[in-house]
Amino acid sequence: MKLVLATHNQKKRAELARILAPLGHDLTDTPLSDVEETGLTFEENARLKAVSGCRESGLPCVGDDSGLCVDSLSGAPGVYSARFAGEHGNDRANIAKLLDMLKDVPEEARAARFVCAVCCVFPDGQEITLRGACEGRIAFEPAGAGGFGYDPVFLPAEAPGLTMAQLSPEIKDKLSHRGRALALLAEKLS
Ligand code: IMP
Repeated sequence: MKLVLATHNQKKRAELARILAPLGHDLTDTPLSDVEETGLTFEENARLKAVSGCRESGLPCVGDDSGLCVDSLSGAPGVYSARFAGEHGNDRANIAKLLDMLKDVPEEARAARFVCAVCCVFPDGQEITLRGACEGRIAFEPAGAGGFGYDPVFLPAEAPGLTMAQLSPEIKDKLSHRGRALALLAEKLS
């Protein structure tokens, strides 16, 4: 199936392509306009991107929205993860702000999860929306050079002692929120 990916984040785009391409989907590189993320949930934002991308390209379009939810911060930064410290996509500043807010929070209270909603919108108006999550906790300092965003400070429960940024791309895809949401989508599409 020919699919358009509605994301301008090149690292996220690479992850989406890595997971969907081996399943036989032909990912086209149609340039799409930016969409303002005005939704209050990951699902709403994923749908906004997919609806707009489908309308512009005339092809089925996959939009995703993701972020980090920290229990002791009542779920923040959530849908505001990319712009937590103000400037959109400044990973270093976002991590610094997060670690500072959690500086007095002990290990047992640092639970968090990455969440990803994916939405696929088809030209005939059909829609599929799914969610994946990855449970873990926030480290006290960054470690690892892989991935992007909050990966250096996220310790997935399924990879004891390692941050997401220390995992190979293949392992990250298996246990990540995005990998899980896309696996569900791939199942539905097939
Ligand atoms: P958006 O989905 O483009 O709105 O941005 C989501 C933001 O959440 C990113 O800029 C990152 O800060 C964070 N995020 C989402 N997924 C991941 C991930 O797999 N690793 C690390 N950070 C992520």
